[in-house]
Amino acid sequence: MTKTASPPRSRRSTLCPFCRERLGEEGDCQTCGAARDLVPEPGPIKSQRIRLEHQACGRFGLRGRHTPTGDLIRLTYSSDGGTNNTRLRIGQRTPLLEELDSVLPVKVRRGALSGVWESGRLRVAQRVTLVGGPTTQVPDTLRVDYLVWNRGRGRRKVGLRAMVDTLIGSNDGVPFLVPGRQGLVHLSEDYLAPVPPYIQAIERPDPTDPGAIVHLTLRGGEATPPDRLVIDHWPGSQGSYEFFRGKGKSWGRDSAVGLYWDLELAPGEVRRCTYLYGLGGMSSLASGNARMSLTVPKVVAPGEPFFLAGRVFGAARGSRVRLEGPASLSSEDALEQVVEIDESAAFAFVGWDLSCSKSGKKSLRVVLLGPDDSEETTETVSVSVKKR
Ligand SMILES: [Zn+2]
Repeated sequence: MTKTASPPRSRRSTLCPFCRERLGEEGDCQTCGAARDLVPEPGPIKSQRIRLEHQACGRFGLRGRHTPTGDLIRLTYSSDGGTNNTRLRIGQRTPLLEELDSVLPVKVRRGALSGVWESGRLRVAQRVTLVGGPTTQVPDTLRVDYLVWNRGRGRRKVGLRAMVDTLIGSNDGVPFLVPGRQGLVHLSEDYLAPVPPYIQAIERPDPTDPGAIVHLTLRGGEATPPDRLVIDHWPGSQGSYEFFRGKGKSWGRDSAVGLYWDLELAPGEVRRCTYLYGLGGMSSLASGNARMSLTVPKVVAPGEPFFLAGRVFGAARGSRVRLEGPASLSSEDALEQVVEIDESAAFAFVGWDLSCSKSGKKSLRVVLLGPDDSEETTETVSVSVKKR
């Protein structure tokens, strides 16, 4: 049998990877403004771990299972996203995304839920795809992209606000883990740039048995950090653009998060706003360590900033934590930190802004030292540093 050479493959898609409309011979997408190589080709939109459901208007919701064989539970209040909404701020108006004129109907097209809308010379595209979770590396996370395209002749200021009605299973008032905060966040909060790198909602406060963990990525990787993050009471399915009621208010049994991007667009400019929402991980799940739990993205690019977050349980006043890592690791923070003790909080938060210049699998070890310098516990996580 003779082997014939396979024909040269030119597999470059002629469809826009963002909105799935046909691309011309050259240049950016004429439907949504996406640059040809802006976004990777999507994979299948469902996995063992999560289910995306959507409404014809473009709202979407998520269910997931935090163990491979567990039950699918809701990770947004309505599994099809009916209680989430996205609004724009265009001049004095703050319309819902679905109230704009439809350019391309909402549809799952080859692995991406996408839709395109416009208001005058402003075009907005939404795209939802399934990706590996930053802290889990299994396909359990939605990547949510918005493109905002100024097709007019003047500069424009545009706001985009995504509101997610957070929930785990049947708990609509889930508490949040916010890097930098001692203890769980139970009351309304308003964060301006730089917003936290991520927030997690957890089913139970136990680090070795937290149940489902919802992970909202705001900074790092492909995320485009919002200018503001709000955690507050759910404002209703038609909730307004601004829904923050003031700091420290109770959200009772119904929490929601708001992500705000403030954009200023030159004529012809396209801007992308991206966040990730899905299941999350923490090191104590595998290690069973009840004294310390670490959370870190599993894959980063060389030189890319990333955040190592840790929670320390039951540390005495005067305790310290020490981070040990490879020589190629650089840190914006002191490698040894004094653990800040807040008696009223269930745990103390520690964290480091890091980057790593060399590729390879890197081990990061955090040691808890008691006031007498004795090693009380250690926890290790690994990060793969590789080019994207
Ligand atoms: Zn397009």
